[in-house]
Amino acid sequence: MTEAAYETLPELESSETRIGASTVVMKFGGTSVADPEKIRRVAARLVDTKRSGSRVVAVVSAMGYHTDELLDLAHQVSPQPKPRELDMLISVGERISCALVAMAISDLGTAAISLTGSQAGIVTDTVHGKAKIVEVKAHRIHQELDGERIVLVAGFQGVSTEYDVTTLGRGGSDTTAVALAAALGADACEIYTDVEGVFTADPRLVADAQKLHAVSYEEMLEMAASGAKVLQLRSVEFARNHGVKVHVRSTFTDEPGTWIREEDERMLEKALISGVTHTVEEAVYQVDGVRPADLFEALAAAEVNVDTIIQMDSRIVFSAPVEDRHQAEQALAGLEARFAEQHGLGKVSVVGAGMKSHPGVAARTFAALRELGVEPKYVATSPIKIAFYLPQDSVEETVRALHAVFDLGSPAAERQHA
Ligand code: ADP
Ligand code: ASP
Ligand code: MG
Repeated sequence: MTEAAYETLPELESSETRIGASTVVMKFGGTSVADPEKIRRVAARLVDTKRSGSRVVAVVSAMGYHTDELLDLAHQVSPQPKPRELDMLISVGERISCALVAMAISDLGTAAISLTGSQAGIVTDTVHGKAKIVEVKAHRIHQELDGERIVLVAGFQGVSTEYDVTTLGRGGSDTTAVALAAALGADACEIYTDVEGVFTADPRLVADAQKLHAVSYEEMLEMAASGAKVLQLRSVEFARNHGVKVHVRSTFTDEPGTWIREEDERMLEKALISGVTHTVEEAVYQVDGVRPADLFEALAAAEVNVDTIIQMDSRIVFSAPVEDRHQAEQALAGLEARFAEQHGLGKVSVVGAGMKSHPGVAARTFAALRELGVEPKYVATSPIKIAFYLPQDSVEETVRALHAVFDLGSPAAERQHA
């Protein structure tokens, strides 16, 4: 059972082939634009890239924790804000940062223009809070690039087919960037963030985690779906579906980072396991007395993205994103079923394309859990992942133990094979 729900391909306006300069899409996360000094540094990097001869499109996230602050503000005003109004509010953070970057670029003597998601031609469906991109109408961006301007696009947002402002879900600026890279036929999508790339585990948790040189789309899908928030899951789906090469790297250095791209023989040879990912909060529901078809129909109608499903006789256990909790509870309450949410669970997953062809990964993993005395509550697998639902307070020690068991702290884990 895999957790990655793949999206249908959105329409991309066929971009005319432009002879000459190549296009690069560069995305800067919240930490990269957290204060005026950092905004000026991002501006300088964009100007340098433009001067080296590229057509530059930059996608920026809201400054620092601005999105969290706006969400908090909304909840202080209203216990259950209307999704449409929430999108109007939280899309503002990205508008602010992209206007500021454009100002800083102008001060460096280079022309720049900021665009909202809507002005940039990002058309989505009507699902507020986690809208999907259905089309990218890139003519305005092309027009501005033809005018020799650096184009700043507010990430994380679009305009729905009903002409409302929508947002793409937490971390959605990654998806804006990859979608634009696909629509513009960019050479690569550069994701600038506060770590140097994709690591064998969250570097904030595991001190000897190693930066990976390259990760396949499939592995990155599993990693993003199971907690490696360095890339939003949807951005990886989009990149894989459109063959966009993604380069995750640090805003604060010029070091190369991690390439996300097609699987290649050397990736499989070099490592059994690519990473250990985790989440500290999972919404897991146990449901009795309802037919699975009725249950999942109700959840789908409520726009709940069901993740893991386990059925044992007439009992169904499923998980869904924590953000979908309210909708999931409403859908369950509407069914004549007994249900309970299981609190206090987190998840640790071991991901690696190498496990497809090497036996023994499950044996080593379960042996490590036995040694720790950790009892997983549920286990879910895909061909390249084993995921354990376990008590929140054992998540961190389990990540560290599994990272050590597969020797991911050794420099060989990087899989350098440029
Ligand atoms: P941004 O604001 O630039 O979009 P995010 O906070 O969304 O950045 O993502 C970067 C964070 O992802 C890092 O600070 C890191 O703590 C976390 N992270 C979790 N797992 C991983 C991993 N396997 N590799 C790299 N970073 C990871
Ligand atoms: N600002 C949005 C968020 O915090 C989008 C992003 O950062 O990608 O989720
Ligand atoms: Mg992010």
